[in-house]
Amino acid sequence: MSALRTAPRWARTSLAFAVVACVVLAGFGVAGFGVGGATREAGRTPRAAPSGAGPLLYVEAPGRVAVGSRFDVVVSSSDPAVLRVRYGDQEVEVVDQDLRTAFLGLAHRVEVEVHATDGAGRVAEARTAVAGYGPPTPTIDAPARVTVGDPLTVRMSWTSVPDAPPALVADAWVELDGRILEAHAFDDGLLALAAVPLAAEPGPRSLRAIVVDEFGTHHRADATFEVAPNPHPVQLLVIPASVLAVSTDGGRELEAQALAAAFAAVPPEQRWEVPFMLPIVGRGTSGFGLPRRYGPGGNVSYHLGTDIAAPEGTPIVATNDGVVRVAGQYPIKGGLVIVDHGFGVTSLYFHQSRIAVAEGDEVTRGDVIGFVGSTGLSTGPHLHWEMRVDGVPTDPMAWIDRHYPVPIARVP
Ligand SMILES: [Zn+2]
Repeated sequence: MSALRTAPRWARTSLAFAVVACVVLAGFGVAGFGVGGATREAGRTPRAAPSGAGPLLYVEAPGRVAVGSRFDVVVSSSDPAVLRVRYGDQEVEVVDQDLRTAFLGLAHRVEVEVHATDGAGRVAEARTAVAGYGPPTPTIDAPARVTVGDPLTVRMSWTSVPDAPPALVADAWVELDGRILEAHAFDDGLLALAAVPLAAEPGPRSLRAIVVDEFGTHHRADATFEVAPNPHPVQLLVIPASVLAVSTDGGRELEAQALAAAFAAVPPEQRWEVPFMLPIVGRGTSGFGLPRRYGPGGNVSYHLGTDIAAPEGTPIVATNDGVVRVAGQYPIKGGLVIVDHGFGVTSLYFHQSRIAVAEGDEVTRGDVIGFVGSTGLSTGPHLHWEMRVDGVPTDPMAWIDRHYPVPIARVP
């Protein structure tokens, strides 16, 4: 062993490898483990008439590689040798006992072939298969333009290069302005739901789809969409002071806490399987997104839902399957039910005269959850209905008869 470690030209041989090589050689009963006679010239021009077994070879290469990316191949020989390593049309040749090199991944299954000729002219060969897989290339399908308050659907998918089998996908996600959106598997990719808040600044927004392949490489696709301003003029609401009196700081705080708790409890899985439906049939009285003041010079607030007028006591049904998160009387929202549909989507029903469900109940699309009333801040019997994504109010009418909201391109 000392001869091996002190031999000129092979000084990089590691002690660990030398131990392994000695054990292996002993197992094969090969005598005369000496390398002193080997020279570079002798190695390059092996003497004829090799006798006995050639050097023992150890080849290490990954079984799966990315097409077009570098991967390492490590070769160790029991004896110093001319080592020639070939992979497709890439080839490396050195005179050494250990070799580490890198090749560019090729599509499909290609063998790494190692050919070794030691100083005595003895030849050994080894090979190992390397399978090359193509990188996944993500694409984004999203609207080009939405109005503040619109729900939007973002789909991402990925394709591989046509002439290579596809690499496995380890992770994938969609970001809106750098924030990861809740998404789930859909067709050959992912589907995400998002909402642009009513108070959001109009202008461009950036979407990014990211796919991480089995080799840890991130692949990106970017898209932008334009957020258009709220097209509605500010309304001035004339509401009797006695009605407005229900809106106190304490009441608002109480309701904000109830809503925050409901939105924090969103289960990750989607509960609905069929399109959303209207919770009551009635007369639409005030649309979503209307900016309004409750008195001259007052602050502008937005109408976060759709108002549907109907006679007191009209049954209200769940717009889709879900779990009841909130069911109770509140000072401003009145008789309130919040149904959690999963996947970040909740529906809210205000001003009910009576509530027919309890917190924790599982409801099915069309189940009666309560009855129309005029409780809380209300001037007459109606249902105020909201649809939210991650707690952000969206236009409820964008959900009707749809499994998912589709991009809405409204022009002011
Ligand atoms: Zn309303």
